[in-house]
Amino acid sequence: MIVEPKVKGFICTTAHPKGCAESVRRQIDYVKGKGRVNGPKKVLVIGSSTGYGLASRIAVAYGCGADTMGVAFEKESNPEKKRTASAGWYNTAAFEEMAKKDGLYARSFNGDGFSDEMKKQVIDAIKSDWGKADMVIYSMAAPRRTIGDKTVSSVLKTTGEPYTNRTLDLRNNEITEVTVPVATEEEIQNTIKVMGGEDWEAWIRELFLADALEDGAVTVAYSYIGPIMTHPIYKDGSIGQAKKHLYETSKRLAETFSDRKLEAFISVNKALVTQSSAAIPIVPLYISLVYKVMKEQGLHEGCIEQMARLFMEKLPAREVDGEGYIRMDDWEMRKSVQSEIARVWESVSTENIGECGDIDGYWDDFYHMFGFRYENVDYSEDVEI
Ligand code: NAD
Repeated sequence: MIVEPKVKGFICTTAHPKGCAESVRRQIDYVKGKGRVNGPKKVLVIGSSTGYGLASRIAVAYGCGADTMGVAFEKESNPEKKRTASAGWYNTAAFEEMAKKDGLYARSFNGDGFSDEMKKQVIDAIKSDWGKADMVIYSMAAPRRTIGDKTVSSVLKTTGEPYTNRTLDLRNNEITEVTVPVATEEEIQNTIKVMGGEDWEAWIRELFLADALEDGAVTVAYSYIGPIMTHPIYKDGSIGQAKKHLYETSKRLAETFSDRKLEAFISVNKALVTQSSAAIPIVPLYISLVYKVMKEQGLHEGCIEQMARLFMEKLPAREVDGEGYIRMDDWEMRKSVQSEIARVWESVSTENIGECGDIDGYWDDFYHMFGFRYENVDYSEDVEI
């Protein structure tokens, strides 16, 4: 079948198998070029198929020589209905194939990472194939979570009062104003259930209970802080409350499992185009400005550059700030970057976004996420989906 992109708002409903493999191959090549460091050897990545989780899996596999197990929730293809699989499904298949070829163990699980069944299945696999894991990376970004017979959803809203600011309308590249509404207390609590630390803690607890995690193991989860104009929607918004819970969970985990010498970190990552971040109001405009300014200053990184720097430099050095965060947003938050963005933010309009922001860079990353727009992939070719 010939696979073309079908973009609807901030999502693409098709994915290209060869293009996704190309994206994985490029990330692997990047890490191979960095050499190897001493690091974890048996790594479980929860949320391993796209964005930061996939890049983490590639970074530890190729940067530290680690065997990996991955958990993700992806859609299989349906050739009869001419429906491609999701990008994460193709990414995972490509990663497994390439890792195995390179002599690295890789096993993946597709299903709901929140569920007890998935935890049991993965822990059984760790016990039978590895004995124990020595690192757990938690990179799940989910819109909802089912607990028993109840499903709760996360929302991207403010807390306190509504917030109006400019945003980039991805349907037509226009700068418009958007007012983000206030989350109710119930919505905040649900967002914490989905994106906070409860499930991360459950994974670690279950792993220790089953004796499937080494003493002295390391676990990492991801957060975002960002500059002031994104605070009402991110850091101080409903998602920020969940991230606060995630941070508190890191402290609680280290305390609870201090006898097992567990180290739990939150890495604050850079704002990047991923399937999750494209859905957040105001953030796409901010990202297009960040890309422009950071590229101009020679500081731009994608997911794989960020994760290679995390697992090969900052984490081995245990480089944390005063609150214990690993700051992978160090370059994004530099004064030279933020003062330029703040200056441009005031004057950005539909007419000048082409010069002020990196719209092309935004869309390139967007299409690349689904395996499109790689110059060395022949998109006119029939492919097996
Ligand atoms: P993403 O959408 O690219 O990846 C999400 C992953 O979670 C995928 O592998 C997906 O399959 C998996 N997943 C979703 N629901 C699941 C479920 N029920 N069970 C199992 N797996 C499930 O997102 P991302 O942007 O890479 O986000 C990963 C983490 O990084 C999140 O904690 C996010 O908040 C954080 N982060 C993102 C950014 C950014 O700009 N994108 C910046 C800083 C921090």
